[in-house]
Amino acid sequence: MIDRRRLLLGAGGLSLAATAVSAAAQGSAPKAVGQPLLGHPDLPDQPSQRMRWAIVGLGTFALGQVIPGFMGADESTITAFVSGNPDKAKELGARYGVSKLYSYDTFDKIAEDKEIDCVYIVLPVGLHAEYTIRALKAGKHVLCEKPMASTPAECEAMIADAKAANRQLGVAYRVHFEPNNVEVARRCASGELGTLRYFTGDAGFNANPDWPPHKWRLQKALAGGGSMYDIGIYAMNAAMMCLGEDPVSVSAVYSYPRDDPRFREVEGGVDWRMTFPSGIHAQGSSSYCYAGGTRQKIFGATGAIVMEPASDYYRQNVTLSNGQPLNAGNPISQFAAQVDGFSKAARANVAHLTPGEMGLRDIRIIQAMYKSADNDGMKVML
Ligand code: NDP
Repeated sequence: MIDRRRLLLGAGGLSLAATAVSAAAQGSAPKAVGQPLLGHPDLPDQPSQRMRWAIVGLGTFALGQVIPGFMGADESTITAFVSGNPDKAKELGARYGVSKLYSYDTFDKIAEDKEIDCVYIVLPVGLHAEYTIRALKAGKHVLCEKPMASTPAECEAMIADAKAANRQLGVAYRVHFEPNNVEVARRCASGELGTLRYFTGDAGFNANPDWPPHKWRLQKALAGGGSMYDIGIYAMNAAMMCLGEDPVSVSAVYSYPRDDPRFREVEGGVDWRMTFPSGIHAQGSSSYCYAGGTRQKIFGATGAIVMEPASDYYRQNVTLSNGQPLNAGNPISQFAAQVDGFSKAARANVAHLTPGEMGLRDIRIIQAMYKSADNDGMKVML
């Protein structure tokens, strides 16, 4: 279990956050714009009598993983789609039996819709804060995709609005619901590896500037940050999940070709290091320049666990110290488990396993890594 007391919550900054968000709303803030249909969904009829969800943004991840995930859910069903592409929404609505279709312009009308309990934000990162806050103001619980938002100020505003609305806000850190990752974290906490000594993790892919879902990831206004925001966050978050601590300081350097035209607005790679209160270090890399993959290794005094891939949608390859594989469950179940976990939390109006505060913590840590990398890898205290 996550010990929420360990999350790096700041007391101040809420009014600053509100100002930042309203300034973003007036100025050069990114706009929600519908995109073409990508992906190949093929889903059966949905069950009813569950927590009812609106999916906001019908992109590749929504179509490929999020919506199919609901098919295995026991507590959750989709009742609405929100999209800027009405033809796509209509086509997908017909295919999945989802009759309520909203656009970004009509989104606020969900406040009057009694058949929506929860909203899942699957938009580019630069739109997370705006749509989360609009959904909370409409009285809905919100599960927001990772990374939580572009800045700590936006995250703070989202958390403040969730509190004001008395609604739950979660960040979709799916590996906390993936059976193999959960079992690895349990083994780390159990002492099975002896005293934990070290964590290393890498996560990256080669960004294609011509593919729409990668295109916005290279634009700061829509992406918030670069490889560390999008993909490095997996290994970084996993380090805290496995070690059971939050870091006290970080250092980082950029590691990507500076003349690569893809990285005019966001960084293409970061090599990072976190120091924990116990004295343990975790280090890793994130990249938009290397072939896709995720890999983690946790070393204890008497054992180690290797995960490669570590945070895949469909397959984790986990090896224990004795060379034996660990098969704790089918990774595909993580998507249903995540939405069901949030549905249960929302129904009981208690904090989700991966709450907004965790999302804020991680954005603060990455911002500290950027600060370090901007200053030749100097140590930055958290
Ligand atoms: P896509 O580009 O495939 O989809 C984004 C969707 O957002 C679009 O299809 C569009 O939906 C909507 N959108 C609204 N405004 C814009 C805009 N200005 N530019 C682009 N799209 C816009 O991205 P992904 O599906 O890969 O990512 C979406 C979110 O999911 C991100 O937050 C990402 O970090 C997260 N993600 C999480 C993963 C995980 O494993 N947890 C994996 C992959 C992504 P429409 O046309 O319906 O309006």
